[in-house]
Amino acid sequence: MTERKAVVFCSASFGIDDRYNDLARDAVRALHGCGYGMVSGGTVKGTMKVIADEARRLGMEHVGIIPVFMKGLEYRDATRLVWTDTMSERKEAMRAGTCLAVALPGGIGTLDELIETLTLAKIGRYGGRVVAFNFEGFYEPLKALLDHYVSTGMLDAPSRDLISFPETIGEFVACIK
Ligand code: AMP
Repeated sequence: MTERKAVVFCSASFGIDDRYNDLARDAVRALHGCGYGMVSGGTVKGTMKVIADEARRLGMEHVGIIPVFMKGLEYRDATRLVWTDTMSERKEAMRAGTCLAVALPGGIGTLDELIETLTLAKIGRYGGRVVAFNFEGFYEPLKALLDHYVSTGMLDAPSRDLISFPETIGEFVACIK
């Protein structure tokens, strides 16, 4: 596996606007250009297939982590597939050995993966950088919620700063270098 690994959380939905998937391809190219291998949820669903296809096109290492109950949905052309029993184990395995966690625009699964990773970073159990790609303001509501947590004392400011919200590919590259 490439020395630096990034886990990418993203949408499993079909029918989202093409611009989100275009952004996902750009993000994978940026990761590859910065020397990262990729870890993903390993299925052929939605943006996950888009990032897997882009990694394959680039000849980038891509490990897909997939629960056994999703058998049949696996992305067969990943460099390697790792099977887990549960979604919780999957999240743990996705993060393992990575030094960067990236959430692209996504739904509740992506949010769950992102917030679990940020929580682990807060308590020192994830040492990588945490990045949410705030493409076209997608993550503004989450930013506002985190700021609300800080202003009410529910979250300390240094922990809030463990997550970055780049808005452009240039800002993204600056975050992940
Ligand atoms: P969502 O953001 O709700 O579309 O969920 C996608 C994210 O959660 C991905 O990063 C996956 O790791 C995980 N996930 C949740 N549901 C699924 C599913 N049906 N198929 C594949 N991955 C899923």
